[in-house]
This record gives sequence, structure tokens and C-alpha cells, in this order.
Amino acid sequence: MIKKIARLRLVSHESGQPPTSYEEYEFYGPPMNALITTSLHHGMFETILRILGSEEQVKEYLPKVLSYKVLGCYAQTEMGHGSDVQSLQTEAVYDNETDQFIVNTPTILAAKFWPGELGKFADHCVFHAKMIIDGESCGIHAFLARIRDDEAHRPLKGLEIGDVGPKYGYSTKDNGYMIFKDFKVPRSALLSRFVNLNSKGELDIRGDPKVAYSTMLYVRVSLMDFTWKINLSILLVGIRYTLFRKQFRSIDNSKEERKVFDYQATQYQMMPFLSFSFACIFASKRCSALYEQMREEIKNDNFTTMKDLHSIVSAFKGLHMPESLNGLFKVRECCGAHGYSNYSNIPNIIEIWSPNVTLEGDTMVMYQQTAKGFLKKFRIMKNSGKTIKGIYSYMNEYRDFSSDPATFDINNSDDLLLVLKIAVIQSLNKISELLPNQDDKVSFDIAWNRVYQIDVISTAHLNAHLLNALMFDMEMKSLTLSAPLKKVMNIMLKLYLSDILVSRTFSHLSC
Ligand SMILES: Cc1cc2nc3c(=O)[nH]c(=O)nc-3n(C[C@H](O)[C@H](O)[C@H](O)COP(=O)(O)OP(=O)(O)OC[C@H]3O[C@@H](n4cnc5c(N)ncnc54)[C@H](O)[C@@H]3O)c2cc1C
Repeated sequence: MIKKIARLRLVSHESGQPPTSYEEYEFYGPPMNALITTSLHHGMFETILRILGSEEQVKEYLPKVLSYKVLGCYAQTEMGHGSDVQSLQTEAVYDNETDQFIVNTPTILAAKFWPGELGKFADHCVFHAKMIIDGESCGIHAFLARIRDDEAHRPLKGLEIGDVGPKYGYSTKDNGYMIFKDFKVPRSALLSRFVNLNSKGELDIRGDPKVAYSTMLYVRVSLMDFTWKINLSILLVGIRYTLFRKQFRSIDNSKEERKVFDYQATQYQMMPFLSFSFACIFASKRCSALYEQMREEIKNDNFTTMKDLHSIVSAFKGLHMPESLNGLFKVRECCGAHGYSNYSNIPNIIEIWSPNVTLEGDTMVMYQQTAKGFLKKFRIMKNSGKTIKGIYSYMNEYRDFSSDPATFDINNSDDLLLVLKIAVIQSLNKISELLPNQDDKVSFDIAWNRVYQIDVISTAHLNAHLLNALMFDMEMKSLTLSAPLKKVMNIMLKLYLSDILVSRTFSHLSC
């Protein structure tokens, strides 16, 4: 794999592609099945350095990152905690006599576990740990440190590092573990664009602390970009194959066998997945643009876009990954036994796509994160009459939905979209009435986690489909397309909307 990367870099130099930037990874990621070594080095290590590093830290490390003099990874997850980042247990105790942090793994459950490129590849790492000053916990923060020596690539004193072992596929990625035993790093290891600690142990935190997790946002946006590319590449295989493959002489008055694609059942398996994948293109493009806007804003300590983007991207991370995996399985089935052969590339892609449902945020957790955000907005709109702006502005239509629409044309995408909005708003209204106020922490916790969690998650699922459809619709209305292309894209939008309405909303529409 490393030889392939070296070769790619050579080719990119020759072809005038940007030679030493993480865009190179983004460019080659999907065709290389997103598994290339250095994906975490660029995607997470470089990204967090750019976002959380002070000017001096970026100046010191970025050239080394881009020229591979430093090989990095991102170690946040521990054996005991992945989704709940606030409960990470690794401790970084500041010692003002030596002006350094002493890092420890207090229990085996606090061992860093799963970080890609940690097992063998990286010699540097950004790790998250609870910062402790004068015996007091000051929250989870990110530290950048060397973890292996320059001479023989051995773990430094105070570290035990290894590979987590065999997994379900993902064999080119050396997911690793790391245990800290009085590992010492200088105060300057603390990534300090927003967090400043002086030698007296005085801490100053600026901005929104959630910015510490914006690297995950970047990876989620990148995964969205991979989703539609992966989906379409596999659909191309499936559709081409079933147009060629024939089974049964079922055509009346003909000795010809029927093309597999000609069966309604085959189209029902693949075409909604195709329409979903088109929707994913537009959602991905819009989120990438919002991510760039957020990055620019953060440079000026403005965190406005970050909050909304977090909610929207959580919805899409929750929706796109499992829907994509289900769709890939369907395409495999449509290709019969030949879809099971790795020459089709389908099993290979299914295997490498599988962890994406879990990594960077499990679907159930993602849906709850987005639900907390949109529920708050809905309640503000409903109780105070405040107008909601941006993608959630569909909620403002709540008051117009007291009666059913007078007419409904199943061939009109606006009407289909309206029905979907009604379904989501009804569902939102229902959970907002069922759940107690968030200020009442005890009853809110029981209602959210034990009684209505499935209602919350299914509302979030439907809302994610609506956001996908809205972005598709907005793009259709703003793009200048040739007439034939516009016609096809409109069919895709209608197919996507009808599929959601037929297969996903019965339970919501009946409530
Ligand atoms: C291939 C791979 C690569 C990875 N790479 C990295 C990396 O480079 N760096 C890094 O730091 N980490 C990495 N991770 C870790 C990854 O980010 C975590 O595994 C992920 O965030 C999920 O956390 P978890 O494993 O602790 O699952 P858990 O949070 O324990 O989830 C287990 C189950 O509990 C459920 N659950 C949890 N909380 C709730 C809740 N509130 N409500 C309902 N259900 C809940 C989940 O839905 C899930 O079904 C990687 C993981 C994998 C598999």
C-alpha cells in the first residue's frame, strides 16, 4: 500500500496535481477505496492541527506533515468510551515545576483503542486526554506529541503501542492501541489555538469548546463525499451487469431470454438506491461548502455555522452510511452469484464500507445528536413563533399544516415534498409533546433514553431523508441543466420522494 501511495505521489507530481496536500488524498481516496495509508495522517491529524493548532504549532508541524517527515494519527477513542467523548479517562496532569504534562492510562478501559495508523505507521499522534491542573479536571483537550523514535520507529519511553488485531476487513488499516505510563510531554504539546496554558498553570479557553471535535465534522463531510461516489461506482457495475445478464424465456412470443434489468423486481432493488445516491451528491456538495464557510469563520473566532452544520452532518452521517451499505447489499443480490465474486468489486466495497456505519459516530448516536438540535429549534418556533432560518426553515410551515392539502398530484415533486414535510412536522410535534422540558433533567433523561428513544430516532431518520430531499430539490431549482438531463433528474427526485413516502412513513403518517 505504501508503495502505491509513493507511486501515486510520483504520478501526481508529473501530472501537475497539487503535490503535497491533503486534497491529494481526497482526490485519490474513493478510487483507492478510502483505505490508503496516510488517510488518517491527512484526514484527521493534519486537519486537527490546522483547526486547533496555534500559529506557531502550525508553522512548526504543517511543512513536516505535508512532506511526511512527521507521520500522524488521531487517538481519541478508548477501549471503554467511543461515542461518549466527555467520559474519556486518559489523564494529562500538568506539573508546573518541570513545565510538562505527565500522561497516564489509569485503567485498562482508558487505553487508546482503534485509532487508524497508530498500530504501525505513525510516529506522531494527536491524543485526547482529561487535563488536570492542581488536582482539578479542566475538561478533555487535544495534545500533539511524538510517539515513536526517529531511529528505529520504536515506541517512546512511557508508551506501549500495538495493533488491535484482525477485524472485519479493513486489513490495510493498522488500527492500534496505546497505553500511557508516566509519558511526559512539554506544555507546548497542548494544541493551543483556543486553549492557552501559561507556565504558572493558568488556563484560558476561548470560543466554543465544541470546536475541539470539528475534525470529526471534517471526516463526516468527507465520508459523505465518498458515499455517492462509492454508491454510483457499484450501481454502474450492477446496472450494466443486469442489462447484460438474461434469465428465463418469459417474453411472450419470443425465444429470447429476458434481461434481468427488465424485471420490475430488479429495478425496485436498484433504482431507489440510485435516486438516493443522486440526493447524496447534492447533500454532500452543500455540506462541503458549509464546512469551508465554517473553517473561514473559525479563523475569525466565529462559530455560527459550526452549530447548524454539526446537526445537519450528524443527520447525514446517520442516514448515508447504513443506507449506502443496504444499497450495496441489494446491488450484490441483483448480480446473483457473480456479485459475490470479488472480480465484481462489490464484496470488497461492502467489506470496507461496513465500519463507516460505526466510526466517527454510530448511527443511533448521530440521530440523537441531530434530534437534540432540531427539537430545540422546533420548540422555539412553536412556542415563541420565532422564524427558523436556513435548512430547518421548513419547520415554519407547521401552522399551515392544520388541514390536509386540498389537492395532491403524485407526479408532482413539490406535492411529494409537501407530504414528506407534513410527515416530519407531525412526527416532530408528537415527540415535542411527549418529551418533557429539557430543564427537567431527570424526567427528560428517562423519557429520552428509556421511553421515547425509538420515536426520537425514527423522527431523526425521517428528518434526515427530508433534508436530503430538500437539498436535491433546491439544487434542481437552481441548476441550469439541458432539457433531457433535467427530465431525468426530476424523475430521480420523484422516485426518491415516493420511495421514502411509500416505504418509510406509514408509521408516521398514521400517528
Ligand atoms: C475501523 C474503525 C476505525 C476507527 N478509527 C478511529 C480513529 O482513527 N481514531 C479514533 O479515535 N477512533 C477511531 N475509531 C473509533 C470509533 O470512532 C468508535 O468506535 C465510534 O465512535 C463508536 O464508539 P464505540 O465503539 O465506543 O461504540 P459505543 O458507543 O460503545 O456503541 C455501542 C452500541 O451502543 C449504542 N449506544 C451508545 N450510546 C447510545 C445512546 N446514547 N443511545 C442509544 N444507543 C447507544 C450504539 O448505538 C451501539 O449500538 C475507529 C473505529 C473503527 C471501527
